[in-house]
Amino acid sequence: MSEDDKGVDLVLRGGSIHVLDEHDTRAEAIAVRSGRIVATGSNADMSELIGARTRVIELEGRTVLPGINDSHLHASWLGGMWPATVFGGGPQQPGPLVTNREERRAALLKAGDLLASLGITSYTEPGIGPGEDAGPTGSFGREVLDVYRELAAEGLLRSRVTLLLLFGLIDGPSTVDDIVRGIREADTSSPNDDLLHIPGIKIFGDGIPPMRNAYIHGTYIDGTHGALLIDGDDDGEREANLRLAIRTAHEAGLQVAVHATGDHTIDVVCDAVREAQGDGSSDLRHYLVHADMVSESAAAALAAHDMGATVQAGIASFAGEWADSAFEPSLEPGEPEPWTGRRLLDAGVNITLSSDSPILSPDWRTEVAAADRLLGESDDPRARMHELLRRYTAVPAWQDHAESWKGTLEAGKIADLVVLSSDPDDVGAAGLPDVAIELTFLGGEVVFDASSESVESAVPSA
Ligand SMILES: [Zn+2]
Repeated sequence: MSEDDKGVDLVLRGGSIHVLDEHDTRAEAIAVRSGRIVATGSNADMSELIGARTRVIELEGRTVLPGINDSHLHASWLGGMWPATVFGGGPQQPGPLVTNREERRAALLKAGDLLASLGITSYTEPGIGPGEDAGPTGSFGREVLDVYRELAAEGLLRSRVTLLLLFGLIDGPSTVDDIVRGIREADTSSPNDDLLHIPGIKIFGDGIPPMRNAYIHGTYIDGTHGALLIDGDDDGEREANLRLAIRTAHEAGLQVAVHATGDHTIDVVCDAVREAQGDGSSDLRHYLVHADMVSESAAAALAAHDMGATVQAGIASFAGEWADSAFEPSLEPGEPEPWTGRRLLDAGVNITLSSDSPILSPDWRTEVAAADRLLGESDDPRARMHELLRRYTAVPAWQDHAESWKGTLEAGKIADLVVLSSDPDDVGAAGLPDVAIELTFLGGEVVFDASSESVESAVPSA
């Protein structure tokens, strides 16, 4: 080895490195070589790793976190719509958002730039497939999957994407025949495993409580109880079809994410997973999306079956009163339902936080602030910040089956990093939305640098 080959590629030093492992390890500096983390430690520890060709970034007190992983984010839809969002308003475009391959590619590239500017280095694209080939937005059909493969092959994705196949409509009906056939014919290949992974499928179990189309055990204010979105002549047949769809995917070795908001849907899904897994252990990590009306027993069942859930505190904050208006006034007022996130955390479920963007902005800083607000009082804000940040990094890496190589800043893992202007512990959750994203690294390469970025591409602060 010549003198020039000595040393690592990159050292960031003089800051606060949050490893986000379970022990909340902190360090002053971090070293990267060939896209991987070599070590974290004190500034002095890193000095022997610095060689002539090492790029050294002086953090000057700034903070480094693992790259953010948004476990439920419709990037194709977001890229077609941004800067508008569904709840946040903005200029709405009539008609489809994207109509051809070029526009679909541009939407994914735009979303990639936006997400990099937010420090997001991984996300799950939940639901792309044939049922949406003629869909109203143009954002979820098979050509989007082709474009994802193309961008992955070209190395142009700016985030690591976990993509779930969909055999039905986004937020709409599906048939068990389409799902079973889709699973049988599913092509989960990727030209670049580092950037694109297709581990499973998305199923829309039901709607949402405020629209009274979430499938619930009780009744809404109008006497109805919602219904499952899968086909069937009655509730019993629809339940059987949803179980069959879940079991078929499970037996094909596919991970299943089910949009499930009503307590009845959640119970059917938990039960179907329990049945599918049987006595044998399973590491497919099936999970619920939204899980709005999760009961204590369902939360316990999720934990017992090694299932996860991805939840959105921002949507809960936004839609809380709207949802309440769908139900009979409570007979015993004054006892608010705990936020589902609280119940899932208490039960030890592997929950992740996510934006469901473009329903809301993809800004994880506001989502963490919203989650913290909904959790109520805390006597240990630092422990809680650690917990919430892990729900955006380490735990979604688990959901991605990738906890051995991403999600924390431990030595050996991939160097997906974000540099923040200040330490989340210093500003607290409420102050997090004002913390600036300064640099984002994907595999040790800069994918966003605030100092060289035009103002337009930055996300307006909330
Ligand atoms: Zn969604």
